[in-house]
This record gives sequence, structure tokens and C-alpha cells, in this order.
Amino acid sequence: MGRLQKILIPFLGLVLAFWFYSARDTFKPEMLRGKRVIVTGASTGIGEQMAYHLARMGSHILVTARTEARLQNVVRRCLELGAASARFVSGTMEDTAFAQHVVREAQTSLGGLDMLILNHVGASYFGFFDGDVEHVRKLLEINFLSYVAMTTSALPMLKESEGSIVVVSSMAGKVGFPFTVPYSATKFALDGFFSSLRQEFTIQSINVSITLCILGFIDTERAVRAAAEVLQERPAPRDECALEILKGAALRRRELYYRYSSTRLPLLLRDCAAELLDYLVRSRYRLPAAPGA
Ligand code: NAP
Repeated sequence: MGRLQKILIPFLGLVLAFWFYSARDTFKPEMLRGKRVIVTGASTGIGEQMAYHLARMGSHILVTARTEARLQNVVRRCLELGAASARFVSGTMEDTAFAQHVVREAQTSLGGLDMLILNHVGASYFGFFDGDVEHVRKLLEINFLSYVAMTTSALPMLKESEGSIVVVSSMAGKVGFPFTVPYSATKFALDGFFSSLRQEFTIQSINVSITLCILGFIDTERAVRAAAEVLQERPAPRDECALEILKGAALRRRELYYRYSSTRLPLLLRDCAAELLDYLVRSRYRLPAAPGA
């Protein structure tokens, strides 16, 4: 009997723990019904797909990017798919004032905010670092500072709704990638800012979740055009990627890895075999010749 108890009690404990954590982890589309959501960079790619998933789930959606004609089409499609409401604001995230304006628009038209999805990305080159410091500065404005500005402006509304911030980043923001030096720098900056901010939220008991999304190669037009020739890897589908981001956000995960096999698993090597990880990253490329070689 004593031996049975010794086995049975820990076993029951494990079953209960498994049940508790798996129940906590179940995503349901209703979680996002009626939620007020901003999606940046939603005229194309992953952002556009997130808008469509949110529409099917019945959210109120505010999309933004520069190209008004594309945003009009995204809004129309969102309404067809069942969005509770859909609207857009067009402009460039090079301008911090515009980033703040988008948040004010959510306050005026949606009366608050439950989720801020920061996803837009400025154009950069794919190749050896060319020494153009102005380009790095401009990319930091678009890919990093506008994220900071929107978060700062949206925080009062997110505190009130106990909402969520979703930051779309990349494997290139966790480990050094060649040929995308300025882009990688902006993604590493996001990790530093938002991971530190999460710590401060915890210290101050601010119930706003921050989900950092670490993505591998995804089949958006821009990424395929830039890298399909040199990356020896099949891109993952953008609609599935978009849905996984939304699930991670709704479940208030601290980090989301997609696809797991090409992001989380290789990153396990970072602390114990960094050089091996660097080698594995380089081996994914058909390498161009070094300048002057
Ligand atoms: P994408 O298709 O190129 O879309 C980028 C979006 O950002 C577009 O809506 C674009 O619209 C907008 N944008 C560009 N410059 C802007 C500016 N100056 N101001 C405001 N909006 C601007 O990109 P994606 O591939 O879907 O990537 C989405 C996110 O996933 C990015 O954060 C990216 O870093 C990350 N990610 C992607 C991959 C991948 O393989 N695709 C991998 C890792 C991480 P307009 O041109 O109309 O402004």
C-alpha cells in the first residue's frame, strides 16, 4: 500500500499538472471576438493574413501601412470575412508622429485597444554590409523607434483593457545572420526593449502581455523575392504563420517560435555551441563571393 501511494500520488500530480497546463494552453477563436486590434504592415504579407484571421474571428480591426489602395482592399475583404468593424489609416512609420496618430485613431474610432500588433518592416538590402550608416538609422526609425512610439502611446489603453502587445521579430533578431546586418540590428533592438519592458511590467504588476514572435523564412512576396535564390530552405506558409502569431498572442505567451523546428530548436545551441550554430546558419546559404575576392 505504501509503495502504491508513493507511485500513485506523484503520478496523479503529473496528470493534474498536465491537465492544468494543457487546459490553460487551449486557443479558441472566441478569445479574439469583439477585441479591438491594430495591425501594422497589414497591406501585404503576414500582416494582411493576420487581418483576415482576425476578421473571421469577429474582431474590430484597424490596419495600417503606406499603400492606401491595398489597405482599402484589405478592409473590404475583412468586412466580407466577418470583421466586427474594419478601417485603415495610411502613412509611413518613418515618422514618429504618424505612429502616434494611428494609436489616437484607435482611441477615437474604437474607444480603446485590446491588442497592438507591431509587424511592419522597412525595405532593406540583401547582401554584405555596405557601410551606409544613414540606411541603418532610417531602418531603426521604421523597424524599432516606431514600435517604441506606438507602444508608449497605446499603453494607457492597453493597461485599461489588460491587453497585449505583439512584436513580430525574426531568427535574425536572436542570432547573427549574414547579408541582413541593418535588419538584424533592428530586430535585436526589439528583443532588448520589449524583454526589458516585460520585466518592468512584472515589477509594477502591469497586466499587459508582450509576445515576441521569432519567425523563420516565410513565403511572403518580399522575403521570397529577396532570399529564395540564396536560402536553401522552403519557406513556411504565411497564413499559417499569421494564425500561430494570433494564437500565441491570445494565450499571452512571452515568445512564439514559428516554425519551431527552424527557430526554437537551433537556438538551443546558442549558449552551449555558439560556433556550431553560426556554422549551421551560414550553411543555409548559397554563398556569394566576398567583395574583392
Ligand atoms: P512584407 O510582406 O514586406 O510587408 C511589410 C509591411 O510593412 C507591408 O504592409 C508594408 O506596406 C509595410 N511597410 C513597409 N515600409 C513601411 C513604412 N515605411 N511605413 C509603414 N509601413 C511600412 O513583410 P512580411 O514578410 O510579411 O514581414 C512581416 C513581419 O515578419 C516583419 O516584421 C518581418 O521582419 C517579419 N519576418 C518575416 C519573415 C519572412 O520570411 N517573411 C521572416 C522573419 C520575420 P507598404 O509598402 O504599403 O507601406
